Amino acid sequence: MRILSLLLLAVAAATAAAADDPAPRVALVVHGGAGVMERDALGAAEEAAIRADLDRALDAGHALLAEGGSALDAVQAAVRVLEESPRFNAGKGAVFNAEGRHELDASIMEGHTRRAGAVAAVATVRSPISLARRVMERSPHVMLIGAGAERFADDHPDLERVPNDWFDTPLRREQLERARAREAAAGRSAAGRLPASRYFGTVGAVALDAQGHIAAATSTGGMTNKKWGRVGDSPVIGAGTWADARCGVSGTGWGEYFIRNAVAHDICARVAYGGATLSEAAGTVLMDVLPAHGGDGGVIALDADGTIAMPFNTPGMYRGWVNPDGSRGTAIFRDPD
Ligand code: ASP
Repeated sequence: MRILSLLLLAVAAATAAAADDPAPRVALVVHGGAGVMERDALGAAEEAAIRADLDRALDAGHALLAEGGSALDAVQAAVRVLEESPRFNAGKGAVFNAEGRHELDASIMEGHTRRAGAVAAVATVRSPISLARRVMERSPHVMLIGAGAERFADDHPDLERVPNDWFDTPLRREQLERARAREAAAGRSAAGRLPASRYFGTVGAVALDAQGHIAAATSTGGMTNKKWGRVGDSPVIGAGTWADARCGVSGTGWGEYFIRNAVAHDICARVAYGGATLSEAAGTVLMDVLPAHGGDGGVIALDADGTIAMPFNTPGMYRGWVNPDGSRGTAIFRDPD
C-alpha cells in the first residue's frame, strides 16, 4: 500500500512538472532588405505579397524551431523561402551585374560552435545559402568564390543548379537599364561611386533554438550594375553576418560600409565586451556609427534571451519576427504599419 501511494505521488509530481514545463523559448527574425521604399509607390497588392513572403519564411523557420530543430536549420529554411521569391534580391529576382548576369553571395554562421560558411559570385546554384552551409559542413574552408565555388557545388549534385538567366526578372532588368542610363548621364568619373539603387533587397534570418543556440544567415545578388567582381558584405563573416553564443546579426545595406565598419560583429562585440543590451548595441551601430561614415541600411539582431532588435537608418526595411512568447508580425516602414 505504501509503495502504491509513493508511486501515485511520483506520477502526480511528474505530471505537474510536465504541465509547468514552459514551451521552449525559441525566436526568429527575418529581413527582405532595407532601403528607400515609398508607401504609395509600393501599392497595396505588392505590399501584401511581400508580407506574405515574409510570413512564409517565418512559418518555415519557426516550424523547425517549434519541434526542437536547430537554429541553423531554421535560418537556412527561412532564407530558402525568400531566395525562391522573385520579390527580393536573392536567388530568383537577384539583381544584374554590369555584364547583365547574376553573381550571388551568401553566408551562414552558427554561434555556439563559431562554424561559418560563405560563397561569393556564384552563378548557377539555385540556393546560395544551401551552398554556403555545405561549405561550412563539408569543406575545411569558410569562403569559396566564383568558379571554385561552382566546382565545389559540382561535387554536391543534390544541390540544384540552374542556368544563370533563371534568376532574371523584368524588374531587375529595368533597374539595370536605369542604372546604366544614370551612369552614362553622370559620366565616367561617377562610375561605381554610388549604389545604383537606393533599395537593397538582400534577405536574412537570425534564430534562437530550444537549446539556446543562435544562428544567422544572409543571401543576396549584391548591387545592381556591380563591376569588376565586386563582393559586398553579405558573404563576409563579421560584416553582413555574425553569430556567437549570445548574439546573432544579419545585415542589409550599402555593403562597402558594412564591411568597413564590421557591422554585424561590432554589434555583438558591444554586447559581449561592452555590456550593452542588444538594442543599444544595434541602435548605436546603425544610427550613429554607420551614418557617420556615410553608410545606410539595416540589421536584424537577436540575443540569447530571444530579444529582437531591427534598427535601420533608411525609410524602410522589410522584416518579420516571432518572439519567444509566440507573438509575431511583419513590418515595412518605421511607423506601425
Ligand atoms: N548589402 C548588400 C551588398 O552590398 C546589398 C543589400 O543589402 O541588398 O551587396
